[in-house]
Amino acid sequence: MWTFLSAVGLGGLVVLSRLTLQETLGANAPFLLAWPGIILAAFVGGFWPAVVVTTLSIAVAQWVLLDGGAGTLGPGAIAIFAAFGLVFAFAGGMRKRGIRRARAYAERLAELQAQMVQVSRLNAMGEMAGSLAHELNQPLTAIANYLNAAEQLLAREEVPAVRVGELVRKAGDQAVRAGQIVGRVRASVDRGEIAIAQESASGMVQEAVEVALGGQGRDGVVVRYDFDRGADRVMADRIQVQQVVLNLVRNAVEAMAGRPRRELRLGSRAIEPGVLQVHVADTGPGISPQVADRLFQPFVSGKPDGMGVGLSISRNIIEAHGGRMWAEANDDGGATFHFTLKRSGGGELQG
Ligand code: ADP
Repeated sequence: MWTFLSAVGLGGLVVLSRLTLQETLGANAPFLLAWPGIILAAFVGGFWPAVVVTTLSIAVAQWVLLDGGAGTLGPGAIAIFAAFGLVFAFAGGMRKRGIRRARAYAERLAELQAQMVQVSRLNAMGEMAGSLAHELNQPLTAIANYLNAAEQLLAREEVPAVRVGELVRKAGDQAVRAGQIVGRVRASVDRGEIAIAQESASGMVQEAVEVALGGQGRDGVVVRYDFDRGADRVMADRIQVQQVVLNLVRNAVEAMAGRPRRELRLGSRAIEPGVLQVHVADTGPGISPQVADRLFQPFVSGKPDGMGVGLSISRNIIEAHGGRMWAEANDDGGATFHFTLKRSGGGELQG
């Protein structure tokens, strides 16, 4: 296409040179007039169009000179003409290749970006769905257990009405909790916010343990608390921080299953001004080396049916509160998980 256009342009120039310009430019007219065509062909069309136009120019120049009675081009002149033509052709060719490569690169980049957006969207959706399923599992299991227990009590000859009432009330509380989880996920999707308020750390933790163990059955697990009573007020989204404690307690109880000693220790310490550190320690086998360095990554699980999202969600929640979360081995051979929360009013270190 460009070769054709350049050839047409060249033809026009030749006619021009024959008609008028030869008088002013003399015998060099065909050469001088050929260059714009060659340069155009090189930079617009690339290597081959420039080669074709250069060859045509030499042929046309021969014809113009012969026709004008000025003799023919010598081999030296042809060589110089062809050499310059080739230089332009190479330059044009390189430019074309560069443009083609840049275009292919840009296309590939756009494709990769589209793939990345898609993958991150899927990840976010997967994590959200996993998180919701995981969080709802606790209250739903607890409701089922409370109602089962109530049903068994109702089957007795002398129904312990107070106890049944208590179990039904607890099931109701868990249903409300499930509703709050759904509501919070919806709210965080809508606004990407958390609802921070002043809370009692010991109160939040104990309530979460009650929910966790109520749902799973105590199964011989001894619970010990050791709270820093002088530094109990923290700034937290109650439901979210309880979700973290629930995850940690559930993991601890699962890790201790079948162990002769099943002891769960929870407590808090004011570690630096304005920061409360909470711990959840167990007497399980400790964190397995297979998962230790990826513990907080999503979808990393050491359990055959584990989803591996609990710890990643928990750390996200704590980090959204401006805190940190980590795990270490303890003296009992088990695992201790720590997280920090901001104390309300940025309280000073006590004791
Ligand atoms: P999941 O419980 O679904 O596997 P988590 O993110 O909660 O997902 O936990 C990831 C992995 O970390 C667990 O599968 C387990 O291997 C390990 N882990 C978590 N808590 C403990 C613990 N208290 N003791 C030993 N290993 C633990």
